Amino acid sequence: MAYALVIHGGAGANPAKDYTAQRPHLATLIRRGAVMLASGASALDTVCAVVMEMEASGLYVAGKGSAPNQSGDVELDASLMVGDGQRAGAVACLSGVVHPIAAARAVMEDGKHVMLAGRGADAFVRQHGLETVDEPAVYYRDYENHLPPDGAKNSNGHGTVGAVALDEGGGLAAATSTGGIFNKRAGRVGDTPLIGSGTWADERVAVSATGTGEHFMRTAATHSVAARMAYGGVSLDAACRAVLGEIGDLGGDGGLIAVDRDGNIAMPFNSHGMKRAAVATNRSPIVRIFEPE
Ligand code: ASP
Repeated sequence: MAYALVIHGGAGANPAKDYTAQRPHLATLIRRGAVMLASGASALDTVCAVVMEMEASGLYVAGKGSAPNQSGDVELDASLMVGDGQRAGAVACLSGVVHPIAAARAVMEDGKHVMLAGRGADAFVRQHGLETVDEPAVYYRDYENHLPPDGAKNSNGHGTVGAVALDEGGGLAAATSTGGIFNKRAGRVGDTPLIGSGTWADERVAVSATGTGEHFMRTAATHSVAARMAYGGVSLDAACRAVLGEIGDLGGDGGLIAVDRDGNIAMPFNSHGMKRAAVATNRSPIVRIFEPE
């Protein structure tokens, strides 16, 4: 069987900014993920491992790199989904956790609910012994490197992370994690933790989104990719591009990464750039930001 892996570090890439730290980081992660998949790791373990590394790096607007909201608090969203049995887990408005994606996975594995938010999610994280942040004001400092060049904290800049994978057993999984958009209101939840908007996986396809979340919610973006393939019989690439077209028509921008059960991959975007990398059984790793595929 074949494997495939696509990862993204957000579609909020700004041509005026320097991404010399992110390019080698993406290259390292995509190689590491390929080694995992080639050694028989599951799609779920692989997407979680990659996203956890991105969350801890501070190089993206997720996990450590997340920016405070208008009230000065960092609120984190994440979700993941496994194609087999369409199992899913999500957390929203989480605070002080090092790996929101691990929290989403714990929610999925707990099995009682799909999504936990706010104080209940925080309590769940602590009950499950997940790693927490001792001093948020010290830990969440890296976002300053991700602000737009004019330094405008009121910009709607963004930079979610995500990963989608097909493993050698035919398993599909998708994971997405974010600190949201800059200058968001307290309590704002975007598309990232919403199954069917920011993340989707079923027996056919796995998809992770990044962009102006409100538009991805209004189009049920990641599920729409799956639905177009299932009901319209279109290719993975055509389905992703059609959804991005719909988002563009509504005034939104961003990108999608996706892999299907045949090992096809897609990573289109309609913003200036999307930090991304891909690898597959017969395809050497590539890293791109502004360049087309
Ligand atoms: N979609 C994310 C959100 O709206 C932001 C991003 O993708 O960068 O929270």
